[in-house]
Amino acid sequence: MLLLRDAHNRIIRDLRVSLTDRCNFRCFYCLPNGEPPLARKETILTFEEIERICEIFVSLGIEKIRLTGGEPLLRRDIEDLIEKLARLKIQDSGFKIQDSEIQNSNPKSKIQNPKLKDLALTTNGHSFSRRAKNLKNAGLDRVTISLDSLDRENFRKITGVDALENVLQSIEAATRENLTPVKINAVIVRGRNDDELVDFARFAREKDIKMRFIEFMPLDSGHEWTREMIVSGKEIFRRVNEAYPLFLKEKSRGAETAWRYGFADGAPGEIGIVAPVTEMFCGACSRIRLTADGQIRTCLFSTVEHNLRDVLRSGATCAEIIEFIQSVVLKKEARHHINDKEFAPASRSMSFIGG
Ligand code: SAM
Repeated sequence: MLLLRDAHNRIIRDLRVSLTDRCNFRCFYCLPNGEPPLARKETILTFEEIERICEIFVSLGIEKIRLTGGEPLLRRDIEDLIEKLARLKIQDSGFKIQDSEIQNSNPKSKIQNPKLKDLALTTNGHSFSRRAKNLKNAGLDRVTISLDSLDRENFRKITGVDALENVLQSIEAATRENLTPVKINAVIVRGRNDDELVDFARFAREKDIKMRFIEFMPLDSGHEWTREMIVSGKEIFRRVNEAYPLFLKEKSRGAETAWRYGFADGAPGEIGIVAPVTEMFCGACSRIRLTADGQIRTCLFSTVEHNLRDVLRSGATCAEIIEFIQSVVLKKEARHHINDKEFAPASRSMSFIGG
């Protein structure tokens, strides 16, 4: 089958699918005012449509699918979708796009036996603990849970919801159900939670989890982002390293977003530092995004979207959908422009894009 290669010679392997633009949290760095969902109900992709799109993407070499949102667990019966997508992990699962269906196919860009290798979910952890078992049974491989404070009151201030206990239970449930490696995302913002960096590192050690510290990006719907609020990846490293000496696990991170560190004293757990603002990693980007209303986004910071939903609903054949996706991938931006004078904010904020 064909590979998805962009105009900058990057191969696209990682698809993020937003299942809804609704969220039950009001994180100040994401959706502070709870703007009404942008997508009207009839524009939201059905599970059947998502399944068809994912099948086609996997046939084009996508190896990782991450379900996100908004809060993906607000979408009813998500287990049914996971069960269907999990079938893409089995080679020769029955889905085949015939070569004859694909026009202009270049034999040099073909791959053998495309299949999904990793099916993951990102959640705020509010209701994950009671659904972990069913999600695992449905075929989910891994989960990333957001956790921006270990202090109950600060957690409430950051997210707008008094739910720290739910999230801690969700982390336990993820580990218990072997949805591993369990990753925890914390967006570090100066004056809001940077004083908890060492607490988070201790938490990672004690619970043997992969803690990811993420720089604050200008994707908040409240438009409060300022450069002063960023705690750079370098500063995060320095402050954690002072308390718990770290070592770099791998000199190259490939298409991954995080530099990964282990604890020098051999303690379990891992620290990941994701620094998209101060240490851009666009050159190795392998990601593409699908919004809940069926728009392809080639970059978090895209100012344009590509309407796959209309192509799909027009009755397009697989070949026509593939042609559309390939033409969109060729338009993938070389890099983001956050640090340029002429930076124009993305056309949607994080909760509508799918993080
Ligand atoms: N509701 C789910 C959750 O809370 O994980 C999934 C969606 S959320 C948009 C996905 C990830 O995006 C979260 O880990 C969140 O911390 C991150 N995120 C949201 N806004 C961000 C911002 N402005 N800068 C950096 N990361 C952000």
